Amino acid sequence: MSHYLEMLADIPAKEAKEAKEAPLNSHNSQSDTQEELRGILGDDYAEIAKHPEQLAAFAHAHACRKMRLQGVPPEHYTSTATCHFCGPIIAPRGFESCMLGSCWWCANRRLGLHIPRPPTGDA
Ligand SMILES: [Zn+2]
Repeated sequence: MSHYLEMLADIPAKEAKEAKEAPLNSHNSQSDTQEELRGILGDDYAEIAKHPEQLAAFAHAHACRKMRLQGVPPEHYTSTATCHFCGPIIAPRGFESCMLGSCWWCANRRLGLHIPRPPTGDA
């Protein structure tokens, strides 16, 4: 479960609430997503699937992770923060101007994937 909680760590309460309220079958790729989640969660899946709101939150976290791996900041990534390793990054809402020891994009950096940068200049 620790892996599961780690993935949820960047979901602000509001998103978690929205995920909770969004019906699980609200989009076409539901079965694909469920299969993916089943694969990721392994033995935890059955336990988490008993709690639709947890499954929905996990699905949201998984979708965000996939977007990050594609170099696309998820919608709620609206802050500019600085990662010790990555430099200036786009961070989830609520992390504005934070100095981070590691970040959501560190995985991309390690994998040599694109890290989207916050807009520079005087905004
Ligand atoms: Zn980083």
